[in-house]
Parts: sequence; structure tokens; C-alpha cells
Amino acid sequence: MNSQFLAELRKAATVRLDEPMSDHTTFGIGGPADAYAIAESEEQLRALADTAHHHAVPFFILGAGSNVLVGDGGIRGLVIENRSDRVDQPVSQSNGSLLVRAQSGASLAGLARRLSQAGQAGLEWACGIPGSLGGAVIYNAGAYGGCLADCLRTVRVANNSTEVAELPASELALGYRGSAFTRGVLQGKVVLSVDLILHEGDPQALTARVAELDARRQAAQPRERNAGSVFKNTPERPAWWLIDQVHLRGHRIGDAQISPKHTNFIVNCGHASASDVKALMALAQEKVEERFGLCLEPEVTLVGEGFDG
Ligand SMILES: Cc1cc2nc3c(=O)[nH]c(=O)nc-3n(C[C@H](O)[C@H](O)[C@H](O)COP(=O)(O)OP(=O)(O)OC[C@H]3O[C@@H](n4cnc5c(N)ncnc54)[C@H](O)[C@@H]3O)c2cc1C
Repeated sequence: MNSQFLAELRKAATVRLDEPMSDHTTFGIGGPADAYAIAESEEQLRALADTAHHHAVPFFILGAGSNVLVGDGGIRGLVIENRSDRVDQPVSQSNGSLLVRAQSGASLAGLARRLSQAGQAGLEWACGIPGSLGGAVIYNAGAYGGCLADCLRTVRVANNSTEVAELPASELALGYRGSAFTRGVLQGKVVLSVDLILHEGDPQALTARVAELDARRQAAQPRERNAGSVFKNTPERPAWWLIDQVHLRGHRIGDAQISPKHTNFIVNCGHASASDVKALMALAQEKVEERFGLCLEPEVTLVGEGFDG
């Protein structure tokens, strides 16, 4: 890696070389990133991305690593872990709603819990989704009938080294687990912060709703390391049902297993490789296609190199 690039990066943040991505993903899987830096603030996030831009080095923004499968060969270029997590005090709007601005590295679940306890309604559905707000925008994260699009007003996005654009949610093409960030138009842009619209609610009722959703999640989801739902549901059938019908519940390749508890989760039983997970995904896709003629589209993002060997 170019020494001038590294010297400039080090002016912005501490940089680690050959950092194992398995330490930074909920799957506990992933080879080394050439360079890895943590942005504790929006300024650092922008400075690191700028430096990579300037030196034409590819960079990858990592939130909580809860929706990625990183290849065993790791990631070439720079990984920037986004920990810019300032959340401003909610501001009352003239129509009675509340506006909350939060930086993109803030925890979605943490924010959902804090707001619910404070009697600010609109994000309860997110209390168990383990990711950053940035990652939640990219996928329009959702659960239990809610999704980010329901309360997202605007996002601030870094276009290039100097330009920040404020985009209304209506321009983000937010849909079922996707957006203009996943489908191309805004690919590669960095989400800096989000503005959410909430409303006044009853703290007790909201806290009870969060407890109810926690219990539902605990009952339904596996405990082993995973990255949430592996495939999107098809319009015809939920992915878990299709995978169950082709008898893959509990099926294992290496240390990767289709969860016996929830068949749309692949779990890491110890030392699973990305190739093991990828092979299980391919098997599920092949069998579902063969039996039902339906295509299972991954919800998890595959990043980096070395899935096959
Ligand atoms: C146990 C478990 C349960 C889950 N349940 C749900 C659920 O109910 N509903 C749901 O929708 N998801 C669920 N997920 C998936 C995951 O939590 C969400 O997709 C989450 O929004 C991902 O956020 P992240 O910060 O972890 O993103 P990461 O995995 O770190 O990154 C995912 C992608 O987003 C990009 N990205 C992240 N931050 C930024 C940014 N600031 N700017 C630009 N790009 C960025 C990355 O480059 C990458 O391409 C679950 C995951 C787990 C492990």
C-alpha cells in the first residue's frame, strides 16, 4: 500500500494494516482488510473517505458489520468503520411531530430503545435490529411491519471530497430491503446523518411494545453468530418456508449451518469460512429454484475476495 496514502490516512485516524474482518462482523467471518481505520466523528469519516478518493484507493464503509459476508481473502483497499454516533435532542415541529437528527454511526436499536423509553414513538419496530443508522438507510431496514422509510425525512450524503447533499427520503428509492444506494444511483456515497420524524407517545406503552418485540425475536432467532436473514422473501413465499420445504433445516457445510431454529439464518458454529456460507447459500438457491422455480435473492451483502477457495 502506497506510503504517502498511509501517511495521509494516519493524519486523520489510527490505521491498522491487515486487520481481520472476522473481528468486525456479526458473522465472525472475513479475511484481512489491507487498511482499517475507525472514524469517531463525521469529520474523520469524511477525511478518511476523502483521502481514499484522492489516492484512488477503493474504500468500504462498515457500520456494525451485521449485514455483510466478507470473503476469506479479505478486502482490498481501505475499510472505514463508522462510529460517528452523535444524536441531537429531538426538536418539536409546528405540526406537533419531533425531528431527530442522528449521525450515521449511531446504533439503530439503541436509538429505538432510548426514544421509546422517552415516549417518542415511531422507531419501536427497530429495537432488535443490530446495525448502524447508515446501514439501515442502505437497506431500508425493517421489522414487524415497520421500516425506516416510515420515519425517515432526509439524509445527508457525502458526494465527493467537498460536497454534502441533503436528500429527501423520497429521492432514495427506498423499498423492501433496498434503496438507490443498493441499486446503483447512489452507490459508493457515504451516508453522514439522518433526520427522523417521530411523534409523542406513551412511554409505558412504548416500553411494553419493545419488550413484546424482544420476546418475539428471542423466540424466533438463533443465538449463534449470524448476519440476520440471508435471503429476501420472494413475493410468493417467505424465504424461510422455501428453504424448509427443500429440507435444508440444520444442513451444514463446514462450520456454517442453516439454523435449525430459523431456516433463513445461516449460523457460524465455530470457524465457518465465507466459502462455507456461500456454498450453503448456493445450495439453498439451487434447490429452491429446482423445486419452485423461484429465485432467492441475497439480503446479506457479499464483500471482498476469496469466496471460492
Ligand atoms: C441477529 C440479526 C438480526 C437482524 N434483523 C434484522 C431485521 O429484523 N430487519 C432488517 O432489516 N435487518 C436485520 N438485520 C440485518 C442488519 O442488522 C441490517 O441490515 C442493518 O441495517 C445493517 O447495518 P450495519 O451498520 O450493520 O451495516 P453493515 O453490515 O456494516 O454494512 C452493510 C452495507 O451498508 C453499507 N453502509 C453502512 N453504513 C454506511 C454509511 N454510513 N454510508 C454508506 N454505506 C454504508 C456498507 O458499506 C455495506 O454495503 C439483522 C442482523 C442480525 C445480525
